[in-house]
Amino acid sequence: MARVIAIDGPSGAGKSSVSRIVGKKLGFLHVDSGALYRIMTWQALVKKVDTDNPDAVAAFAPTVDIECRPENGAIAYYVGGEPPGERIRTPEINAHASQVATVKQVRDKITALLRDMTRFGDLVVEGRDITTAVFPDSPARFYLTASAEARARRRQKEEVEKGIANQSAAAVKASLLARDAIDSTRKCAPLRKADGAIEIDSSDLTLEQVVDIVLEKIHETFD
Ligand code: C5P
Repeated sequence: MARVIAIDGPSGAGKSSVSRIVGKKLGFLHVDSGALYRIMTWQALVKKVDTDNPDAVAAFAPTVDIECRPENGAIAYYVGGEPPGERIRTPEINAHASQVATVKQVRDKITALLRDMTRFGDLVVEGRDITTAVFPDSPARFYLTASAEARARRRQKEEVEKGIANQSAAAVKASLLARDAIDSTRKCAPLRKADGAIEIDSSDLTLEQVVDIVLEKIHETFD
């Protein structure tokens, strides 16, 4: 049986960096579940589906074909044979992804894709509902959080470094908070700390410190 480390938390809490490093250190494949919601959003926008209309999004969801395969220590995604790259990291996708993620048909499709990935091996999966809905039985579950200011600062730095956007810290914070609000109040698998998940507030911690805390807990769990 493949082992799964599950990490949830709001946008910009550091889930991706932590998951990537933990995966590398332990030889677990890194799975970015948010990228799957971003791909669904990107494809909906490309195909001119009204992302504010849940019925339209629900009908569109089954038509999107996402190929998942292990590559360089992570699960890589392909749509029509091409990696989406930074096309799924734009402010436009940020603005629509949480709305698309409220739709049950989208969540069911992505949950099935994520569960199927255990056939590739041990996984470290990050997202919003991994500890509560996708892999609730994993013995290694974490809720990573940080203040809105710290999260916005990190996200903005990342966007500028990657050349994706040049938004002010205030604009990035507003976008994060808007997504958090939708993610934590939606009916289907809302973002929340799962019972039994280990909460880590990374506001005043370095990436290395967070990784060390996670690794220590994982060793206690799996050894
Ligand atoms: O993690 P990331 O910011 O890339 O996620 C994009 C969006 O996808 C989130 O704002 C959230 O609405 C949705 N999401 C989700 N469940 C997950 C991962 C992401 O609803 N497991």
